[in-house]
Amino acid sequence: MAKKKTTTSATPFIDALRVGEGFVLADADTRSTPAFTGDKVQGKEALVAADDELDTLQEQLFAMSRTGDTRRRLLLVIQGMDTSGKGGIMRHVVGSVDPQGVSITAFKKPTAEERKHPFLWRIRKALPEPGIIGVFDRSHYEDVLVVRVHDLVPPQQWARRYSTINDFEKDLVDDEVTVIKVMMHISPQEQKERLAERLARPDKHWKFNPGDLDERQHWAAYQEAYQVALDRCSPAHAPWFVVPADRKWYARLAVQQLLLEHLRALDLTWPTADFDVAEQTARLEQMR
Ligand code: AMP
Ligand code: MG
Repeated sequence: MAKKKTTTSATPFIDALRVGEGFVLADADTRSTPAFTGDKVQGKEALVAADDELDTLQEQLFAMSRTGDTRRRLLLVIQGMDTSGKGGIMRHVVGSVDPQGVSITAFKKPTAEERKHPFLWRIRKALPEPGIIGVFDRSHYEDVLVVRVHDLVPPQQWARRYSTINDFEKDLVDDEVTVIKVMMHISPQEQKERLAERLARPDKHWKFNPGDLDERQHWAAYQEAYQVALDRCSPAHAPWFVVPADRKWYARLAVQQLLLEHLRALDLTWPTADFDVAEQTARLEQMR
């Protein structure tokens, strides 16, 4: 039998995708597959193959939080242009974890109530409890993305938000939150194809929003706003990861592997029993 080909390269996804000094978004190839040498079929297989490990690690995280071993939780922030595949991450990556172990929050245009408060108010309310993987479908970064592109607040106000965000995320990390920020990076051509598909298929019309075409016209301004957010909000304790997302199968695998690599680094274990196992086993055996 042929030896099974390894398809993940030696480089961890964390290292291949992390935004470092001098990162240029415009130079990142949206069709590339960093840290993975396999094709689509192998990529889909690799995704399914790692489902159980992700689920088990989350359960360990939860178990340890219940026994007071750790207050650790994860926050996965997913950002990206319209059609970049954020929904697919929720279904195909986060969907493999026990629903009791995850909390997903989708951030929309702020409500009247939310607008009365500072921009982080609704974000703080949605933070995960210990043991839980919190997932943000859009996030506080919209407050320096859509808000910056459309000047929804005066420039002096959004300009201050980068350091406010850095302070906020530093507090999270100090409070045992592992922060993983992912930008799903697609090309404008790929977006056009995905929007066209939404228009061509009646079962996808519900996903189409005529406003997406208006936003598409601001593509360059969005890319610039992303570049600034990546530059200014990538400290070592909470860097951004840019995931090439023109290939859906790769983007899903990459986000899953980023989650796995962060979870593995936490050295999770099953909590030791706080009762005498032999004694309880003997008791049970004596029962009818
Ligand atoms: P969707 O993710 O397709 O459901 O769209 C959500 C919409 O809400 C997007 O157009 C976002 O730009 C918008 N949105 C999210 N957060 C904010 C915010 N803080 N300010 C203004 N618009 C926002
Ligand atoms: Mg949308």
